[in-house]
Amino acid sequence: MQLMRYQANTHRINHIFISHLHGDHYLGLMGLIFTMHLQRRTNDLHIYSHRGLDEIITTQFKYSRSWPNYKIVFHRLEKDKREIIFEDDAVTVETIPLKHKIRCSGFLFKEKPKPRRIDKDKIPAGFLLQNMAALKRGEDILDESGNLLYKNTDYTIPARRSRSYAYCSDTAYLERMIEQIKGVDCLYHEATFILEDESKALETQHSTAQQAASIARQANVGKLLLGHFSARYKELTEVLNEATPIFTNTALALEGETFTIAE
Ligand SMILES: [Zn+2]
Repeated sequence: MQLMRYQANTHRINHIFISHLHGDHYLGLMGLIFTMHLQRRTNDLHIYSHRGLDEIITTQFKYSRSWPNYKIVFHRLEKDKREIIFEDDAVTVETIPLKHKIRCSGFLFKEKPKPRRIDKDKIPAGFLLQNMAALKRGEDILDESGNLLYKNTDYTIPARRSRSYAYCSDTAYLERMIEQIKGVDCLYHEATFILEDESKALETQHSTAQQAASIARQANVGKLLLGHFSARYKELTEVLNEATPIFTNTALALEGETFTIAE
């Protein structure tokens, strides 16, 4: 429903990453699956989760006697294991083992190194397309006898930087993740509780805003987004106020907000 509300294009969603099987993290999935069906989706949909989600979803199909007209491919995550679960030309996705009441993994999204970009101002008129392609691949261009015609670095400018994003929810305070998420551009970390409810965080294996900020600081990330706030707080200023003295570049990831990671 929220995806519809914020006009996300569901046709562009081909991979869905579910951290764990507490209801607030996957109960919206059935609605999305059937919306995609009604929208006449034909592409496969890949869903990554810990064990059980395939059973939950197929049981619903079975008893409602309705199956989507596209294929769903389930990928099971390994417990407590860091693994690359998706890779294409542009990005990799790896799991971040988290500490929660049930099996739970965060996800680290990393762009791969990008090619140098063509410097359009330097390209002579009539430049061959195949030479353009070679420059994009990072090659120098030689003539038939092997003499240098165009040196790559003279006609290209440095590549855009590769960005990274880590999603860590739900989890207790967990220093073990720091090494894996070191230097990411953006970290989403749950901050279910504030300091006065620290004992509840411990009991339910969630984090406080201070703990999330401490992870962000130790991992030296670019930006911290806090989320998964307990419904007990009507006002979220306290959550932010507890985090910013520890990690300045912090924001609340409120419903409907978008954050851009600069290239
Ligand atoms: Zn949970």
